[in-house]
Amino acid sequence: DKKQTIHFGAGPAKLPQSVLFQAQKELLDYNGSGISVLEMSHRSSDFTKIMNTTENLLRELLSIPDNYKVLFLQGGGTGQFSAVPLNLIGIKEDRCADYLVTGTWSSNAAKEAEKYGKVNVVHPKLDTYTKIPDPSSWSLTPGSSYVYYCCNETVHGVEYNFTPETHGAVLVSDMSSNFLSRPVDVSKFGLIFAGAQKNVGCAGVAVVIVREDLIGHALTECPIVLNYQVQAQNNSLYNTPACFSIYIMSLVLEWIKNNGGVDGMETLNKKKSSMIYDIINSSNHFYTCPVDVACRSRMNVPFRVGKKQGDETLEKDFLDGASKLGMISLKGHRYTHTHTQSGFVACYVTISGDVLENPSAVRNRIC
Ligand code: PMP
Repeated sequence: DKKQTIHFGAGPAKLPQSVLFQAQKELLDYNGSGISVLEMSHRSSDFTKIMNTTENLLRELLSIPDNYKVLFLQGGGTGQFSAVPLNLIGIKEDRCADYLVTGTWSSNAAKEAEKYGKVNVVHPKLDTYTKIPDPSSWSLTPGSSYVYYCCNETVHGVEYNFTPETHGAVLVSDMSSNFLSRPVDVSKFGLIFAGAQKNVGCAGVAVVIVREDLIGHALTECPIVLNYQVQAQNNSLYNTPACFSIYIMSLVLEWIKNNGGVDGMETLNKKKSSMIYDIINSSNHFYTCPVDVACRSRMNVPFRVGKKQGDETLEKDFLDGASKLGMISLKGHRYTHTHTQSGFVACYVTISGDVLENPSAVRNRIC
């Protein structure tokens, strides 16, 4: 008898109810082993099966080509901000990487990469993170080791609806907040990574999908747990992995498979986010979304209440009223740098979000 809440948190985000039930059912005694996954050796046969199932489901859902390794690492998305340059920036002698900086997360990633090599932001600097600069304004650096972008900027609600053209340069994408929300042609990427706690489970594990020829170029200072070659050679078991988080991921992947796979998720996410954008668009500017229509995220919808820059009193009323109606985690992040806006409300409509499970209830409550 769970309290009837509608949870809009970006991550850790809502998990499908059926996944929670199954985890509950198996918590004390996994598969007749007499112990919990929480207590199980990462080298046991039961856990080996969980790892293999998780990887196979991911490979199936995204049609990952055979020349890509799938790794399950710790350190979250932020760990991967460092792991990417530590493993890839040394691929070319110049140690130079191109970054598209369209929001907090790509900005954080670029700052981390600056510790290990030269970083070029390939487009004119943005005053506000509300758009994706037109590709005609990008100037990629010849000979850069890779081109990095964040496919969905979780704080700012900016999402790429196209794959950047890099003219042969290695493309790296942070897909933490839109992973598995639509089909992706993995072969266009050198590397994709995603923290699990938004779309594929709970915190503790990040998925890395990396093309084999990019493995083995780590800088000597790369910590061993972040070294793709070491982890790939050891099937992500060089050290103890986040066993329970990987187990939860396997349950979520199964749920995605049973709910139409990534095509199914794409349909659902469009439907969920359109419900919110429709309300914003028809609100006669009572609600406003600062993001360019062309790159509005299907995963997270930042908006202001009351007027364009937001009326803080009304926004507080909105959040209080929403909370009384059981709608939680709607408070968005505060903008901190290069922005005139100070904060906003945000609906995160992550893959298994409640908007999907009870659309009319949400619509009635929001309106
Ligand atoms: N990238 C994106 C797009 C994110 O949304 C986040 C987390 N909000 C991160 C990276 C950082 O992830 P973590 O907290 O797992 O380090």
